[in-house]
Amino acid sequence: MSKSVIIIGGGIAGIASAVFLSEKGFSVSVYESSPKWGGRTFSYFDNEKNIFIDNGVHILGGFYKNTFEFMKIIGTFDKLKVKNNLQLVFTNKDKQILNFKCGNLPGVWSLLSGIFFFKGFNFRDKLEFLKIRKLINGKVFEDDKLERTSASKILEMTGQTENLMKYFWTPLIFAAFNSPPEYVSGKLLVNLLKKGTENKKNMSLYLGNDTLNGLFIDNSLKYLNEKSALLYNNLGGKKIIFEGNYIKCIELDNGETVSADYYISALPFYCFEKIFSPSDYAKHFNRSVNLQPSTIISVHLFFKNDISFKPDGDMTGLTGTCVQWLFVNNKRHVSLVISGADYVCGNMTELSNEEIYFACIKDLKSCLQKFDESEIGSYKIIKEKRATFLTGPDSEAYRLRQKSSLENLFIAGDWTDTGLPATIESAVTSAGICTDLIVNRK
Ligand SMILES: Cc1cc2nc3c(=O)[nH]c(=O)nc-3n(C[C@H](O)[C@H](O)[C@H](O)COP(=O)(O)OP(=O)(O)OC[C@H]3O[C@@H](n4cnc5c(N)ncnc54)[C@H](O)[C@@H]3O)c2cc1C
Repeated sequence: MSKSVIIIGGGIAGIASAVFLSEKGFSVSVYESSPKWGGRTFSYFDNEKNIFIDNGVHILGGFYKNTFEFMKIIGTFDKLKVKNNLQLVFTNKDKQILNFKCGNLPGVWSLLSGIFFFKGFNFRDKLEFLKIRKLINGKVFEDDKLERTSASKILEMTGQTENLMKYFWTPLIFAAFNSPPEYVSGKLLVNLLKKGTENKKNMSLYLGNDTLNGLFIDNSLKYLNEKSALLYNNLGGKKIIFEGNYIKCIELDNGETVSADYYISALPFYCFEKIFSPSDYAKHFNRSVNLQPSTIISVHLFFKNDISFKPDGDMTGLTGTCVQWLFVNNKRHVSLVISGADYVCGNMTELSNEEIYFACIKDLKSCLQKFDESEIGSYKIIKEKRATFLTGPDSEAYRLRQKSSLENLFIAGDWTDTGLPATIESAVTSAGICTDLIVNRK
């Protein structure tokens, strides 16, 4: 008979765990406390607009190896459109349009070529950027120095200029870590650069040609139903019940108890400790998950007619502004992203929706050519206050490993110790690690 696994939490980490384990022949049950699947990766139907809207734009890096493997299993990998060689367009408050395009070269040389030909950089910028190759190769700082020092300090010590910080490092770090450069550990930055520049394929970016539900959720649920997995939403895990060093069963929100051979917690960092009694938690875990949340604000603009502003490519970086990225979903629907919003333009999270909207319009007026505010018919603002954890230099210490001290409990989630920022790739990677641990246990 196949071994059984109970997964608590139906975000990407929980769903990917369920898919990987079902594929390996396990009997899987997933319990999700909310009415919807997908956790922070979701789309909702907007009755007013009559369309599905994503909670926020999700970009995938070319190095998202585990996510791509997962998408191939559920059959959605072909719904991604790739931007090879990190081709990006930037605009600034002088309405200049600057193209950043890495060359078709191996690994880090591709990135260096992008910097070399970027018009926003002068000779000194380019010269200083060359030092990054040594940083990536581990020839500048010891590992523990990287861990203890913020990314901004590491970049300053590596001689990165104001221009490089403005056009390259700050947008990259905000987008990848949802945290300002002062809060990100140098080690995480170097890890990301290593992964991103391992080969030229890794330098690409992927955007979805479908909604988040279409990319990750709908097909997963179909796949799991076909594999006879049991999926329960509106029914969360309430309390873990122990027998020595084993989990005996889980008490659900409706008072029922359920048991299995193995258990995976796929809860977000702010829910994990809550399913244990304080004494059980203290007994089985030697540190608390003291991670702090970080906000992403997504602003959806709906235009009355097709947009006529420039640049109008699918993805534009704005520099020196509150808005960091602009995405053209279609000619009448544009999304703006403000990552690390608690640290942007004072604190954008504290502002009312109307104030956020006006701050965005001010940015668009100053950066875009031929932008006409009166063309906007309506807007929607989504503030995700716990979009990710804040990647402070201390945060790595609070990330738990997937293998717990308990014999039959495994921990998945973007916040677990994957060495990656809180992303879809981190969530799926943690699911892959839990699956391998369970398969090897069997
Ligand atoms: C606006 C926004 C933009 C983003 N952009 C990107 C991007 O561009 N690229 C990228 O890679 N990542 C991005 N991310 C991050 C990405 O969405 C997350 O890293 C990922 O979704 C986390 O998945 P998870 O399964 O670990 O956690 P979650 O999605 O939080 O899933 C946890 C699930 O557990 C459920 N739960 C909680 N308590 C219980 C309980 N007691 N019992 C049962 N279930 C419970 C929750 O309801 C939730 O469904 C973005 C996130 C946001 C919010």
